[in-house]
Amino acid sequence: MYAEVLVQYGSKSLDKTFTYKVPSNLIGKVNKGMKVSIPFGNQSINGFVLNIKDSCDLDNLKEIKSIINENFVLNDELMELGKFIKSKTLCSLITAYQTMIPSSLKVNKSKEDYTIYDTYVKLIDNEEKINNYINNHSRAHSQLEVIETLKGKTLLKKELNSSAIKKLIDEGIVLEEKIAKFRINPEKKKSKEVVLNEEQLTASNEIKSHLNEYITYLLYGVTGSGKTEVYMDVCDKVIESGKSVLMLVPEITLTHQMIQRFYDRFGDDVAIFHSSLSDGEKYDETMKIINNKVHVVVGTRSAVFSPVKNLGLVIIDEEHSQTYKQDTNPRYHALDIAKWRCEYNKCPLILGSATPSLESFARAKKGVYNLLELRHRNGDSKLPNVSIIDMRDEYRKGNSIISTELGFKIDECLKNNKQVMLFINRRGYSTVVNCTSCGYTYKCPHCDITLTYHKTTNKLQCHYCGYTIFKSDTCPECKEKAISTYGLGTEQVESFIKTQFPSARVVRMDIDTTSRKGSTDSIIKGIENHDYDIIIGTQMISKGLDFPDVTLVGVINADESLNIPDFRSGETTFSLISQVSGRAGRGSSHGSVILQTYNPECDTLIYVKNNDYIGNYNNEMKIRKILKYPPYYFITSVKVKSKNYDLLKNEVNKIATFIRNNIEDTSICLGPTTCPVFKINNVYRFQIIIKYKKDKLLEDTLRRLDEEYALNKDISLEIDVDPIRI
Ligand code: ADP
Ligand code: ZN
Repeated sequence: MYAEVLVQYGSKSLDKTFTYKVPSNLIGKVNKGMKVSIPFGNQSINGFVLNIKDSCDLDNLKEIKSIINENFVLNDELMELGKFIKSKTLCSLITAYQTMIPSSLKVNKSKEDYTIYDTYVKLIDNEEKINNYINNHSRAHSQLEVIETLKGKTLLKKELNSSAIKKLIDEGIVLEEKIAKFRINPEKKKSKEVVLNEEQLTASNEIKSHLNEYITYLLYGVTGSGKTEVYMDVCDKVIESGKSVLMLVPEITLTHQMIQRFYDRFGDDVAIFHSSLSDGEKYDETMKIINNKVHVVVGTRSAVFSPVKNLGLVIIDEEHSQTYKQDTNPRYHALDIAKWRCEYNKCPLILGSATPSLESFARAKKGVYNLLELRHRNGDSKLPNVSIIDMRDEYRKGNSIISTELGFKIDECLKNNKQVMLFINRRGYSTVVNCTSCGYTYKCPHCDITLTYHKTTNKLQCHYCGYTIFKSDTCPECKEKAISTYGLGTEQVESFIKTQFPSARVVRMDIDTTSRKGSTDSIIKGIENHDYDIIIGTQMISKGLDFPDVTLVGVINADESLNIPDFRSGETTFSLISQVSGRAGRGSSHGSVILQTYNPECDTLIYVKNNDYIGNYNNEMKIRKILKYPPYYFITSVKVKSKNYDLLKNEVNKIATFIRNNIEDTSICLGPTTCPVFKINNVYRFQIIIKYKKDKLLEDTLRRLDEEYALNKDISLEIDVDPIRI
């Protein structure tokens, strides 16, 4: 018996399997998908068993040392899925597998058992011995008391008198028992009774009548239309049939409320995954899944790999969210993985959004996806009124942060004891720091980017590499005391608001205030409890959160993200601002939204104001068609990076020529051009873009390139199939 074992080999993880003999004591025990320890050179390392075979031509093979994990780290489905990821993202197989499993189980980890225990105690099963003890120890009051308490019961050891219990254990009167426990133990609450409305019922019934088919549904429903209630209704039916549900949510800020709703409804039938769980918590949650203790898994992007058996439904909430695409190797999109798994398991996939991605909506219109619509908010609550404020006028009046109208509305909100959300897409105090005398602008010495001023720390910081210096008042170039700051960030809005509305309780939510574990949750709880009146934040506050007391949303710099040179900026701005706007008026009071902009004629903002998703869709699609962008064409980007500029320039031209010569005639290869941020951390960056409808040669061409540069120390390649931005 022989086993082919995949190991992580070298830094670039080239795929390599090695064949080992299965020793007689492990025959029948070692299986595909298990993690084993093997001798390798003069050390021992771990690997995944890819295959078991009866014969092998090679001689003198070494033997597998031991099985590291009895549980299958990779089941049959995930073994297959790894191959798909490899071909879709051009990564190595070991990289695909390593991405799929939680850190505590990764191939190089040897500490496997993260289980924690509670110690219980009970009396021995020998009444005579117990009675003898009682008779001989009539003055040991505390021991006798413990014996009395334990009669007929098993109790937690730590709840009893510790010295008495120790004596009883030593005397052999009491037995100890360790029972594994989970770190996270959700409880079901009686959730509020919801009767689906007609639109919701139609959507839910449609999905429920096709639970054994692979169909992708696009649940397109305005914010607050009750998509989540539809998800949960379908979940009920799937669970009832004994199958499991996988539900993805975009990011951690959102998971809090969503997870709570799922806990309330499904209790300890839910396992969760997100990046702020500890290794132990992730291990526990994985074990709940592997041991079939749960039927619902809720989590962020990587939860799409969770080893759910008998998958009956996958839901991707806020499907347009860019967080579903991983931006490091392997550059997979959770949507592609979900589709693969639903097809494999013959079950439906629900994509939910108020602002579907252009690609998804186009597919729904073509009939590739099945479109389900929720056009109305539930009950009385209406979509908020949106108005656009021309900041050029305001600026002349001396208002550069908050317009007169927004200020007035904030006042009104505070008087009515409602909450306000202010959205600004930049963190820090100001985004440009320069000298008004000589024009010098502070830039990062390592990156092609200006430094952001953080007032709390009085430092200038690079948001790409973290480079920081103290702020000074004197220009390093001309030595004049003329340093000035421009460009709004969250910190500045916060300090302005605090001086303008001194009695309001203000909280800021951005990377800087939420980096500590638990801080996001505590801010969200504070908002829910109405401990804050004004919430200022970056896109963190834009999605999914549901706070009934928020009746006013202000977008401080509505056109900011439109200025980013990317083919998706119109789409993302529309969805971002619609999402933020959707935070207003979710309770019984009507909400309003104010968009402040220096560019009030902008199409995208007018579509937002009119809540016209279709208008924006049609407009963007026209542009995409002319410019040959997705969904009309697929794109792949190849970034070529090096610290050595001259070498890079030379090499990137060779690479572009190689690509041009090895793709189909119908494909288009653009570049090389410099990346939008030309230098990050002293590394220069160029990119080549390939646009294609179908290209049978491309995968092989890119793989050859990737392999050729894998061991090159000076040049590195970053290949991104279907990039989110370029
Ligand atoms: P979405 O996910 O589309 O943003 P939610 O499912 O969060 O919308 O619904 C918004 C609010 O309306 C939630 O508080 C939800 O409980 C409530 N809701 C949704 N549908 C109903 C219904 N049919 N009856 C009563 N309340 C509902
Ligand atoms: Zn930098």
